[in-house]
Amino acid sequence: MERNSPSASPALSVREFFARFPNEQACLEHIMALRFGGTKLDCPSCGAVKSEFHKLRDRRVYACSHCLFQIAPTANTILQDTRTPLVSWFFAMYLFCTTRHGVSGKELQRQLGVTYKTAWRIGQQIRKLSGEADFAGLLRGHISATNPSSGVGAPKGAIPPRARPSSAA
Ligand SMILES: [Zn+2]
Repeated sequence: MERNSPSASPALSVREFFARFPNEQACLEHIMALRFGGTKLDCPSCGAVKSEFHKLRDRRVYACSHCLFQIAPTANTILQDTRTPLVSWFFAMYLFCTTRHGVSGKELQRQLGVTYKTAWRIGQQIRKLSGEADFAGLLRGHISATNPSSGVGAPKGAIPPRARPSSAA
């Protein structure tokens, strides 16, 4: 479970990537694990110890099984308000950290199967953060792709990441 390897080399093959992140739920659970240590956590609202948080249907939100306090794992990250599947974002990050010469909008469009506009926007967001975010780290075990400037409208219950390896804020 604990995977704190600081290694930045994305050793995942494309096949391994999709085995690990096959769908939206897998990506969300990965983010929950990185930011909150999993879906069992001490509830910051009711104080229940190791409370099970359940994913709400059709929403990127988990709720405390005791008091329904909600946590949005993507809050305050570049993934916060996106309508693009998280797998596409994860794969875009994967491409960025496995491709040394950079990834063009056209290439993202082709690889992700999204419109050029969406691909361009995803590329822009990732590029903007690439100085401070460790995407290889995100895919391997820890997240630092937070975007402090997009905190407006964060769903209530958003909790700052437990530990931020680099305090870029
Ligand atoms: Zn609770």
